[in-house]
Amino acid sequence: MILKNKSFKENYLIEKLFLKNDLDDDELIWLIDNISEEAKKYLFSLSRKTADSVYSNRVYLRALIEFTNYCKRECMYCGINHYNKNVKRYRISKEEILLTCSKASDLGFKTFVLQGGEDPYFKDEIMVDIISSIKKSNPNCAITISVGERSFESYKLMKMAGADRYLLRHETMNKDLYKLLHKFSNLESRIECLKNLKKLKFQTGAGFMVGLLNYKTCDYVRDLRFLKTLKPEMVGVGPFISHKDTFLRNFKNGDISTTLLMLSLIRLLLPKVLLPATTAVSTIDPNGRKRALDVGCNVIMPNVTPCIQRKEYNLYDNKKITGAESAFEIEKIKKELESYGYICDMSRGDSKMTI
Ligand code: SF4
Repeated sequence: MILKNKSFKENYLIEKLFLKNDLDDDELIWLIDNISEEAKKYLFSLSRKTADSVYSNRVYLRALIEFTNYCKRECMYCGINHYNKNVKRYRISKEEILLTCSKASDLGFKTFVLQGGEDPYFKDEIMVDIISSIKKSNPNCAITISVGERSFESYKLMKMAGADRYLLRHETMNKDLYKLLHKFSNLESRIECLKNLKKLKFQTGAGFMVGLLNYKTCDYVRDLRFLKTLKPEMVGVGPFISHKDTFLRNFKNGDISTTLLMLSLIRLLLPKVLLPATTAVSTIDPNGRKRALDVGCNVIMPNVTPCIQRKEYNLYDNKKITGAESAFEIEKIKKELESYGYICDMSRGDSKMTI
């Protein structure tokens, strides 16, 4: 069918995406390149409607603990990469992690997200000890781990210890760009890790950065196609934000408009996915959290890392470091969500993809 009229074509593609939860790659490319502001509003209303039909207007809250900012890797966009000598490095002890989880549990959290750099100190036996101790004190909680690339065996041990979910952004499916940004790593091993996590039945999170180094529409479509094929239970997508101590310090940040477009497309391609409104979105736009929820996001991850360490976990400049370490902050978050028309849900909030 040849569709000549632009607005007719964009509405046709948006509705096809809504009904079939997929488009051909050339259709996605056309839509991203041509979508008008008016049609975006329509797209966003349908992606929000899709989130409502699966998760209603509930927004899941996860307690984020950034437990180490040591990292052996070289990711060129990241403020805590191994080569940045201006970072004050820290590790939170097992006891402190357990105490933080216990405080978060008292506030009502049922999911703890343990995020860190690729820190060789946290060997398998240490991770297993931490995970099983958290599970012992909080048997009904969900534990999400995000500590980068590890072996199949290592992931297996963490799964057996009680970890439920694992976040590992694929970063970009552009092989050359991946290599440029990660000199000593390669995209193949990243993908292998994600496949291993899926094999081990982790609820798996992948994702990418919007606006990374002259990203083109075909790059976005490659990322979207990868997500559609992998079927991750969670997708983390936020704008690239430069960090003053990295090689990418002078590159332009990703913009809110493209970020919202990507979030909306992901919700429609993967209706049941858990989709966080990331801190990076709120960093580039003061109204970013609401805008992200309005296009279909349904998770937020308030930071419960002890305040002293929180300011040292700077992946990018001007990162928002407010958190939810007190009941007062939680009440504020609940009220904020309610004022937008959403309900704060502190249950485990498992992905419906696995149910
Ligand atoms: S993005 Fe992750 S793996 Fe890469 S340098 Fe930063 S913390 Fe390390």
